[in-house]
Amino acid sequence: MAYDYDTQNIFAKILRGEIPNDTVLETEHSLAFNDIQPQAPVHVLVIPKGAYLTWDHFAAEASDAELADYSRAIQAVIDKLAIAPGAGGEGYRLIVNGGKAGIQEVPHLHTHILSGKVLGRMLPG
Ligand code: 5GP
Repeated sequence: MAYDYDTQNIFAKILRGEIPNDTVLETEHSLAFNDIQPQAPVHVLVIPKGAYLTWDHFAAEASDAELADYSRAIQAVIDKLAIAPGAGGEGYRLIVNGGKAGIQEVPHLHTHILSGKVLGRMLPG
């Protein structure tokens, strides 16, 4: 499988420190920061530090350490924001857009964490 990762994408630039970000949390292999155009009162993006285009790219080629770190980083943000239903929080939605059908705009894997209001149905219609 060929994954055509663009090293000039905006999240690669954030990871290289070329443009600023509003960091929520950083781990060895992952970075979480606030979305620049929030779609809800809470809108955090979690990205792996490695050069992965999509979820399928990450799942295919990331190390076990990266996979575990990424999953735990997402949960660490949920814990930090106190939005986990299991801990009395209001809940959240995780979204990972991939490719054309998913309308992925930034070609570096990212998980959206949305909360802070009732988010409506998952898809319109
Ligand atoms: P996608 O449509 O690819 O799933 O989502 C990309 C997200 O990245 C959008 O929610 C958009 O607002 C966010 N975004 C795009 N450029 C930047 C940026 O320079 N900084 C931050 N923090 N978020 C960005």
